[in-house]
Amino acid sequence: MGQIILKKVNKSFGETQVIPGIDLTINEGEFVVFVGPSGCGKSTLLRLIAGLEDTTSGIIEIDGRDVTGEAPAKRGLAMVFQSYALYPHMSVRNNIAFPLKMAKMSPEAIDKKVTEAARVLNLTNYLERRPGQLSGGQRQRVAIGRAIVREPSAFLFDEPLSNLDAALRGTMRLEISELHHQLKTTMIYVTHDQVEAMTMADKIVVLNAGNIEQVGSPLDLYNKPDNLFVAGFIGSPR
Ligand code: ADP
Ligand code: MG
Repeated sequence: MGQIILKKVNKSFGETQVIPGIDLTINEGEFVVFVGPSGCGKSTLLRLIAGLEDTTSGIIEIDGRDVTGEAPAKRGLAMVFQSYALYPHMSVRNNIAFPLKMAKMSPEAIDKKVTEAARVLNLTNYLERRPGQLSGGQRQRVAIGRAIVREPSAFLFDEPLSNLDAALRGTMRLEISELHHQLKTTMIYVTHDQVEAMTMADKIVVLNAGNIEQVGSPLDLYNKPDNLFVAGFIGSPR
């Protein structure tokens, strides 16, 4: 579960081509980071995978199934939004339970899943609080909890830490990596931060103006950058 394949995926907004036709394979259980400068198409690529944008041409497959044109809810993926997307008037419990209530799951089943997600995320003692009574890191964990309960085949993160301060970003990086070790679910993580990419990724996809410049492990990119863009962006001497 969680294998994602892009075949000649192209995305244009009107006359402007943002993704020029890319091929990419994301393997089951991988932690993949899309990295590149602002405006290079990272969010667009993630939104195409999530189904929040339609491809102009090309095919997206999830676990061998062609999902091109399929609604986001049918794809079995979960997008993790920044923590400010929480409902301020709802308890942590109800924020996490929200997608399951929408799916009309039984209260007993919801309770079980919320309890398990809270355990994994160290939120057990905070379930009756409201988001405003939590730290920034705890709020970010609630946002992740809302994705976990849906048991997605992959988690999609779009710069989830960009509104946190530097110290907290470091802690949350470790927590998300630890979560990946525990769940072993495919994760795609978008960032413009090279340090996040180098410390978190199994596989880095370097994007530049919608093109993939290189795909490889952090060590590969550092030791054997394919071109000057990658070398300059990753910051290794060449
Ligand atoms: P990144 O996430 O890497 O910063 P984006 O994927 O948000 O980049 O944007 C890539 C390019 O596509 C940018 O030039 C942006 O202006 C353009 N773009 C993104 N979404 C839209 C849209 N809905 N309509 C028109 N242009 C868009
Ligand atoms: Mg973006």
